[in-house]
Amino acid sequence: MQRIGVFGGTFDPVHSGHVNTALSLAQHLDLAFVHMVPCFQPVHRDAPSTPADHRFAMLERVCHAHPTLIADDRELRRGGPSYSIDTMHALREERPESAIFMVMGADAFRYFESWHRADEFLSVVNIVVVHRGGQPAPDIVSSRWRDAYRSVDDAIQCSLGALTSVQLPLWTISSTAIRRTLADGGELGTEVPEAVAQYIELHQLYR
Ligand code: ATP
Repeated sequence: MQRIGVFGGTFDPVHSGHVNTALSLAQHLDLAFVHMVPCFQPVHRDAPSTPADHRFAMLERVCHAHPTLIADDRELRRGGPSYSIDTMHALREERPESAIFMVMGADAFRYFESWHRADEFLSVVNIVVVHRGGQPAPDIVSSRWRDAYRSVDDAIQCSLGALTSVQLPLWTISSTAIRRTLADGGELGTEVPEAVAQYIELHQLYR
């Protein structure tokens, strides 16, 4: 059974924390691919200030360097509010035989109950909650999805319906900090892959 991951975000811009997370998860869960899915109109936060075509172009450059990562523009093409459940249904239809793992940060898991059609996700995909070292562990045991909890070894045998968690190192990088550094006239270091730094420079983004 092929396993794929789905990593959503605003990616404004995509940074090394996103890339390291996606690649580490691919290793931990034996994923053939990770779909990197930029949202068009986020449901739980302010709209990104950078046009979708720039955000996607940066993501494409990063994915080009990592064959495991797929730049997936389905939410940009769909338009309107970017409900993750619609994306999961679309991927499930395309890949009926695959195990699908939706990636969620432990911070997002805390308010997962408030997500649009939250109770539907596990009937379509698996969920992997990423717990970053040094940050509070996700409280899965007292959540209403506790019965779906599986160890990673068990979860990777499931095509859908399993909730698992993986602890990864903490990469203290955020798109907000990158935007702020650039707006203040600062330089970027290893926070973004080289191809992203070049794109930002070429188009004078975030200045
Ligand atoms: P912003 O600062 O604009 O809020 P961000 O850096 O948090 O952006 P997003 O595109 O909003 O990036 O995040 C997409 C996903 O990536 C989320 O699930 C988030 O938890 C995760 N993520 C963001 N930064 C990191 C990081 N440094 N390490 C691991 N995961 C991260």
